[in-house]
Amino acid sequence: MGKITRLMKAKKSLGQNFLIDKNIINKIADSITATKDDLIIEIGPGMGALTKIIKNKGSNIICYEIDTDMKPYLNALLDDKTKVIYTDILLSDIKKDIKDIKYNNLYIVGNLPYYITTPIIKFLISLKLNVKEMIFMVQEEVADRFSSLPGSKEYGSITLYLKYYFNVEKLFKVSKKCFNPVPKVESAIIKLETRTNRPEIDEDKYFKLINDSFKMKRKTLRNNLNNYDFDKIKKILEKYNLSETVRAEELSEEIFLSIYNEIE
Ligand code: SAM
Repeated sequence: MGKITRLMKAKKSLGQNFLIDKNIINKIADSITATKDDLIIEIGPGMGALTKIIKNKGSNIICYEIDTDMKPYLNALLDDKTKVIYTDILLSDIKKDIKDIKYNNLYIVGNLPYYITTPIIKFLISLKLNVKEMIFMVQEEVADRFSSLPGSKEYGSITLYLKYYFNVEKLFKVSKKCFNPVPKVESAIIKLETRTNRPEIDEDKYFKLINDSFKMKRKTLRNNLNNYDFDKIKKILEKYNLSETVRAEELSEEIFLSIYNEIE
């Protein structure tokens, strides 16, 4: 990294940990399969470590960066296909910003500011952007929670929430040594690929069932769902050879969907 980079003081409050490991930056870029006819939205480009490399794909790129102190670094990357919008991503109007761009597939990528990882993902889902894939650097613990399987201690309501929209995959781990300043936690790259076979259900009702089921981690499903008609739920549990004392963390999406359909 050059002289200017070393002079830049990272703002902890904005989750600024800059990637400095070239191999990792290339590996992240390689996992983004966008081509020149696609649009890539990058969240939090910082000094442009990843932006610089993904520009080689020839795609249109729109970056959202909250910190205008990054301008001297990002200005150098601007051209007719690369644009930076200085705003809080959570207050951005992405639909309006991309409406005049012609593209085949939409990718959203970024080494996310960890203090708002889940709000950013929920915000993007709420926009219904028709995104093909999202590739994000997140805290490793969060990547494990997002991609866990039933029965593991990381499995929870957020896992099922994301699973409803995406095929979620933890791609690889990233050591804290790959950043400057070095963060306290380890990181990982996750891929969220939009599902084409999403169940046709009332999302709000399904997510309420999921949230209620995981309300108290130690409690059984029966205790957490004491406001529901449990006889109907019992019927489904029996079908899957599960006892009444089962906990939500042991149930797959398929079982939750069966419960949802039974109580509907
Ligand atoms: N992509 C760069 C890299 O890998 O070196 C920087 C990643 S750093 C972990 C997170 C970036 O997100 C910072 O540049 C920070 O200023 C930016 N950021 C933080 N909060 C943001 C927000 N609400 N909206 C947009 N960008 C934000």
